[in-house]
Amino acid sequence: MQPNDVKPDTPVQFLKGVGPARAAILEKLGIKIASDLLEYYPRQWYFAPEPVKVARLLPNHTVTLAGIVESTDFQVFRRPPYFEAYITDDTGSCRAIWFNARYLQGKINVGQKIIVWGKTAVYKHQLQLANPKFIIVEDDKEISADDLSGPVYPATADLSSGQIKKIIHYSLDNLLQSAEEFFAKEFLKKSNLIERKTAYQWIHKPEDEEQVAKAKRRLKYDELFIMQTALALRRYKVRHFEKAVPLKCTDLIDSRIRKRFPFLLTADQDKVIEEIVVDLAKDIPMNRLLQGDVGSGKTVVALYAALLAIANKQQAAIMAPTEILAEQHFINIERYLRNSSVKRVLIKGGITGQERKDIIEDIKSGDTNIVVGTVALLQEDIQFKNLAVVVIDEQHKFGVLQRASLRKGTTPHCLVMTATPIPRTLAMTAFGDLDVSIIKTPPPGRGQVITRYITHKDLPKAYEFIRERLKAKKQAFFVYPRIVDSENGDVKAAISEYENLSKRIFPEFKIGLLHGQMTSDEKQKIMAEFRAGRINCLVSTVLIEVGIDVPNATIMVIENADRFGLAQLHQLRGRIARSSSRSYCLLVAQTENEIARNRLEIMTRSNDGFEIAENDLKLRGPGELLSARQHGMPDFKIANIIEDFELLTLARRDAFELVEADPFLKLAGHKNIRTELLRRFSDSVGLADIA
Ligand code: ADP
Ligand code: MG
Repeated sequence: MQPNDVKPDTPVQFLKGVGPARAAILEKLGIKIASDLLEYYPRQWYFAPEPVKVARLLPNHTVTLAGIVESTDFQVFRRPPYFEAYITDDTGSCRAIWFNARYLQGKINVGQKIIVWGKTAVYKHQLQLANPKFIIVEDDKEISADDLSGPVYPATADLSSGQIKKIIHYSLDNLLQSAEEFFAKEFLKKSNLIERKTAYQWIHKPEDEEQVAKAKRRLKYDELFIMQTALALRRYKVRHFEKAVPLKCTDLIDSRIRKRFPFLLTADQDKVIEEIVVDLAKDIPMNRLLQGDVGSGKTVVALYAALLAIANKQQAAIMAPTEILAEQHFINIERYLRNSSVKRVLIKGGITGQERKDIIEDIKSGDTNIVVGTVALLQEDIQFKNLAVVVIDEQHKFGVLQRASLRKGTTPHCLVMTATPIPRTLAMTAFGDLDVSIIKTPPPGRGQVITRYITHKDLPKAYEFIRERLKAKKQAFFVYPRIVDSENGDVKAAISEYENLSKRIFPEFKIGLLHGQMTSDEKQKIMAEFRAGRINCLVSTVLIEVGIDVPNATIMVIENADRFGLAQLHQLRGRIARSSSRSYCLLVAQTENEIARNRLEIMTRSNDGFEIAENDLKLRGPGELLSARQHGMPDFKIANIIEDFELLTLARRDAFELVEADPFLKLAGHKNIRTELLRRFSDSVGLADIA
């Protein structure tokens, strides 16, 4: 096939140099048709000058050397440690060093043919290259100028970067024709963006670093902009095509609701309630995400919204992910609503027969004002008379928005609560169509939690420390990643450690065991005993994340803490932040892994969930923090929401302005954006049905 015959949708199999076998390999890389090649971005770009001989090196020049690796060493005791290699050609030998590069051991080996390039410098009267780029040359291969300049593509065992480069470059000029411009010239100029065609050209065939930088900026912007436009459209749709019952809030209603709480609301609670009251007064359904650590006082906010619905002669539902949590909510609500005329009910799976029928009937007739239950139960056969507010407590998950229409005709106002702090960066992408409220400061009177990172050898000392606290009638949690021992025994398990703690370490105290394989009744019983103080130490798996509120528990030991995500550790730790006295969280881990250690260090330094989440995101990437597909996070090909935060902010602003000005992207100037959105998201953004 001639380059000119290549169309954007030509299957890659028919391109020059491909064929069925390579087409299969390319398909695994996500490349099916010719236009996919445009977005198969290089992972780096080389711009190495022509090689020179060692004898001709001058200081402070960017040079390329080609030679043989004569010796290597990892200088582990230097600060910082470095990997060094002497590279020899027929005129002499030059030292190259890479700081902290332990990973180069075994990668750069004596006798290999190597090409390095970077800037020369004089160190102790000798010329050397610090942190040069390098290519190891296979024995029988001659290096061509091509290897030293241009793009390097992510390759596979069966298809090298060079081969991919040939395939892409062959059709590139022709493919560029299909990359239609999204924006007007003035906009590009104002935003400091190059043209789209040029960007693709420069990302695949740049002449220098500057072209790469400009191309990246444009392509990243596009990726972020298209995603944000999709979010803006989704939001527009909710706000203009769904109707909600507006809920009025008068001073009288406000003061009546506040009287229900035996304390003054915190400044953060007040602020969030104000935001919610404004939302609820509109006939547009509220779509708000409320974030706040466990114990930050979200339930009060939820109840406020529910009571506002009731004051407006409407119903409210509060949903939790599990029955235990639903029950916890119900108990909390009962405390606030004692002696009130508000009719509330807890729906449990165990309730059947006539009792259940009666409950359902009361909800349907509108007699019941507040219904509490799990998400599943509330979606079964329950019908509301006039449901206006839905609160979903997702506890530790987030993003799985069940915006099921629980009511015909109008959409209820929806408040989603989560105790997982979502970093700003993620919130703007994964939840770009929601409004976000945050409770940062917990209610007053909370003691400090002191967190320490310890290893196994510190355990005896830790046990003595804990013994003193237990004697002073405090309680402790011991948390393990597993229920039973793993095969190789490297991870501590709740059941065997329960034996150990109750028989050998703390025989004088009462130890309880709680894990997911126990029946619901057994769990309830153990938790009740712990709450009542009859159990001193509770040994458990991560189960206690959910719904245990025991202010007297001021110690938590988390074993194999490196197995948990930071958000999860923070969550767990929140369990001992409820007392007015000082609490202690001991993270026990035996790990050589530097990232794992850094993560645990963060825990000892910070109690701020957002800071922790942001750091975790930086260390582990978004994929770990939330599974991309489940939460509708697009996987980016070139943008990185952490590094490109500024560009993300810009793209978001532009996208929302665009949708505000032309909600259906009907204007001729927006045709290409519209086509791209439909290509990426099909009709899930609601463009197709409007058109
Ligand atoms: P969350 O739902 O965010 O986990 P809760 O709403 O259950 O937190 O509140 C945690 C605890 O703090 C509860 O015992 C509650 O009574 C108490 N609390 C909530 N708001 C306040 C406040 N403004 N002043 C004092 N205590 C409060
Ligand atoms: Mg709660």
